[in-house]
Amino acid sequence: MPGVLTLALTKGRILKETLPLLARAGIVPAEDIASSRKLVFDCTRPGVRLLVLRGTDVPTYVRHGAADLGVVGKDILLEQGADDLYEPLDLGIARCRLMTAAPVGWSPGVGRLRVATKFTTVARQFFADQGRHADFIKLYGAMELAPLMGLADVIVDIVDTGNTLKANGLEPLDLIADISTRLVVNKASMRSYPLEIEALVAELREALV
Ligand code: AMP
Repeated sequence: MPGVLTLALTKGRILKETLPLLARAGIVPAEDIASSRKLVFDCTRPGVRLLVLRGTDVPTYVRHGAADLGVVGKDILLEQGADDLYEPLDLGIARCRLMTAAPVGWSPGVGRLRVATKFTTVARQFFADQGRHADFIKLYGAMELAPLMGLADVIVDIVDTGNTLKANGLEPLDLIADISTRLVVNKASMRSYPLEIEALVAELREALV
């Protein structure tokens, strides 16, 4: 929409921490996002509207220019590949680690590893870089269950406190990447509205400290 910047937010735990940050930059939704079933929100700052999406859909909206900017986890950017987006800010939200994990005391044998994960692209690259032969099993949740049920030897998953791994008899092994929430920008939007986008990025940067 001409004259309006569209910012796509990731719902869930990232949204909870994003809203106070946006508020410090003077961007407050005109109505309560948590209690509304709407997905598009005007806000108190003229010229900005907000979308609330699943994290995996945020890069898609920004890539296609359906949103000018997005707030999304680095795990999703790594998995989808995001070289076609600018990533001007680390928002420092929802910090965690992408790690391999296996049952406590497990050690690799000689054969191919079976790796269960939602992050098959990142995992494939990681094990290839290590020179380890592996087969990858795509799961959409509850990765911790896969080794317990004999579906996989190891998993690649997000670790925060490590409690979920521990509760399922697993331990973290290798760090693949430190993860946090990033601001991404559509490159064509940046060319079309450089002043507006740079002002918004500068205000968000100030709101970080
Ligand atoms: P924890 O038990 O604290 O290590 O949390 C691990 C689980 O919480 C993982 O299985 C993730 O699905 C989820 N999780 C924790 N932090 C994040 C985050 N920043 N982004 C997405 N998922 C997370």
